[in-house]
Amino acid sequence: MAHEVIHKTAAPAVAPNLADYDRARASFDWQQARDGLAGLPDGKGVNIAHEAVDRHVAEGRGDRTALRCVGRDDRVRPVTYAGLARRSARFANVLRGLGVGRGDRVFTLLGRCPELYETALGTLKNTSVLCPLFSAFGPEPVRQRMRLGGARVLVTTGELYRRKVAGIRQELPGLEHVLLVGPEDEPPPGTSSYEELTDAAPQDFTIPPTDGEDTALLHFTSGTTGTPKGAVHVHGAVAAHRATAAFALDLHPDDVFWCTADPGWVTGTSYGIVAPLALGATVVVDEGDFDARRWYRILADEHVTVWYTAPTAVRMLMRATPRQGPHDLPRGYDLSRLRFVASVGEPLNPEAVLWGRDVLGLPVHDNWWQTETGCIMIANFAACDIRPGSMGRPLPGVEAAVLECGEDGRALVAGGRVTVLERPDADGELALRPGWPSMFRGYLDDEARTAACFADGWYLTGDLARRDADGYFWFVGRADDVIKSAGHLIGPFEVESALMEHPAVAEAGVIGRPDEVAGTVVKAFVSLRPGVEPGPGLQRELLAFARRRLGPAVAPREIAFDQNLPRTRSGKVVRRLLRARELGLPEGDVSTLEGTP
Ligand code: ATP
Ligand code: MG
Repeated sequence: MAHEVIHKTAAPAVAPNLADYDRARASFDWQQARDGLAGLPDGKGVNIAHEAVDRHVAEGRGDRTALRCVGRDDRVRPVTYAGLARRSARFANVLRGLGVGRGDRVFTLLGRCPELYETALGTLKNTSVLCPLFSAFGPEPVRQRMRLGGARVLVTTGELYRRKVAGIRQELPGLEHVLLVGPEDEPPPGTSSYEELTDAAPQDFTIPPTDGEDTALLHFTSGTTGTPKGAVHVHGAVAAHRATAAFALDLHPDDVFWCTADPGWVTGTSYGIVAPLALGATVVVDEGDFDARRWYRILADEHVTVWYTAPTAVRMLMRATPRQGPHDLPRGYDLSRLRFVASVGEPLNPEAVLWGRDVLGLPVHDNWWQTETGCIMIANFAACDIRPGSMGRPLPGVEAAVLECGEDGRALVAGGRVTVLERPDADGELALRPGWPSMFRGYLDDEARTAACFADGWYLTGDLARRDADGYFWFVGRADDVIKSAGHLIGPFEVESALMEHPAVAEAGVIGRPDEVAGTVVKAFVSLRPGVEPGPGLQRELLAFARRRLGPAVAPREIAFDQNLPRTRSGKVVRRLLRARELGLPEGDVSTLEGTP
C-alpha cells in the first residue's frame, strides 16, 4: 500500500523536548520521570495515590477540579482534588478498620462513578492492591478473576451484586467484605453499606511508607488470545504513567482530558485514573454507554482538550458520521477546544486517521502498548508527522526492536540468543528492552508464563511488527493471528485496512483458512455500513477491490458478510474465534467476549 503522511508544522502544545524527537530520545532517562514525582513526605517512598491527589492538595491546588462525572442523565458531578483526597482517605480508613492491609486485594465491580475513583485511590493509600473489574462482566468472568486474584474485599452496587456475585459467593471463601454503593432497602446478607462506612470514617489518613516496588495494581489482560492473565504492577509505575501522558498524549495540567476506556481495562486505569490526576489535569468521567451524539456532546460541552479513545469507538463514530457527508454531526457541536486525539487497543486503520482529520478536524494519533507494559510504548506524537496506519515511534526511554521469527510467528531463540532484524521493513516479533517503571512484575502465580515472555534480555510482546527506514513501527498482527499463505506471511491488519477503504465496509476481520492447494487462503469477514445490502455483486466487487489494493498473493480469496463480528468487551475483533467458528473448532475461553453472560 502507498502510505500517506500527515505533516505537522507546529503542534499547539507539545511536551517541549519532543519537538526534536531524536534529541529527546538521546537525552531522556527514566530517572528524570522519577524525579518529577513528589514522593511521600519525609522520604517515605512513592505511592500512586499521593501523586494523584494528596500531592496537589499539599501544593495548594486542592480546589481545582479533579473529576467531572457526566451521569446517564447528563447531570455533571464535579469533584475537586481536595474532595477526592478526603473521600479516598475515608475509604482507606474503612479498609484499615476492617483489618485489610498491605498487599490485600480489593476488587471493584462498578460503573464509572466518583465512588470508583475514591475506592481505587483509597485502596492505594492503604497499600492494598487494586483490581478493577469491568462492570459489564457476567458472573463467570467475575468469579474467575476474583478467584485468581484472591479477592478479600469487593466494592460494587446492590444491583450488580445480585446479578453477578450473589450466586457465586460461596465459591469465593476468601471474599470477606462486600461493600455496596448506593441506598438499599433490603441489603443482601453478607454485605455492608459503602456510604455508611465511609461517612463514619475519619477524613485524615496518613499513607504508610510505600516502596516503589510494592504491588499496587492487579490488571487482567483483555483475554483476546485466551484465558486472561493477571499482570502485577507496582507503585513506582506512576512515574511512567505521568511522563508518558505528557509525551504521547500531550497532556498538561490545564487540560480537560477524557479517556473513554473503562478502568476494568488497563487503559482506563493508567490513563483514566492515574496519569491525568498525577499531572493535575481535569478528568471527564462518562457514566453512560457509547452513543455518537452523546459523545460529540460531551466533547463539546465539557470543553475536552485531549481525548484518548479506541479504534472500535472511532469506527462507530465513522459509521454514524462518515467522512463523506451529508450529516449534521459533528458539525452541530463546537469541538474547537479539542487539541489532540489518540487511540489504543487494536490497530487503527489509516481510514480512521484520515476520518479524524476530515470530520473532527484533527487526525487520530495511534499508539501501542499492552497490559504488561503498563504505559504507552510506541506512539504518534503531537510534534511529529503521522504515518496513517503506523503505531508511531518508541517513546523516549523505550528501546524497541523487531526479532527474527520462526514458523510459529514467535521470536526464534537459539542457544538463549535472539536475532534483531536491523534491515527496514522486515517482519518479526516486536520486543522491548525492559527497564521502564511500569513494566509488569510478572503474571500473578504464573512464573512459567512470565518467564516465557523473556529471552536474551528482551521482553517478547507476542505481536508481529515491522519498522520502516525512518523508525516508524507498523503493526502486522498478533503472533497467533498471522496467516502464512503460499509462502507469504500475511498480517490480517493490512488486509482489513484495505477492505475498510471501500465505502460499503464498516469493519473487517481476516483469518487464514486451510486450503489443499495453497496451504492457507485468506478469508475476510466483513460488516457493512448502514443501508448497504449484502449480495454476490458486492462480494465480487470487494474481492476485486482488495486484489487491486493488495495484489493477488495477499488479497482475500473469500469474503463473507457478518454484521456481528465477535469482539472482546473492550471492543477488539477476535480473529481466533472467527477461525474457530470457520473450522468448527472449540471456541476456547470466551469469558471476555461481548454477548457472553
Ligand atoms: P490477551 O493478552 O489476554 O490475549 P490482549 O493482548 O488483547 O489480551 P491487552 O493487554 O489489553 O490484552 O492488549 C494489548 C494488545 O492489544 C497488544 O499486544 C496488541 O496486540 C493490541 N494493540 C494495542 N494497541 C495496539 C495498536 N495501536 N495497534 C495494534 N495493536 C494494538
Ligand atoms: Mg496480550
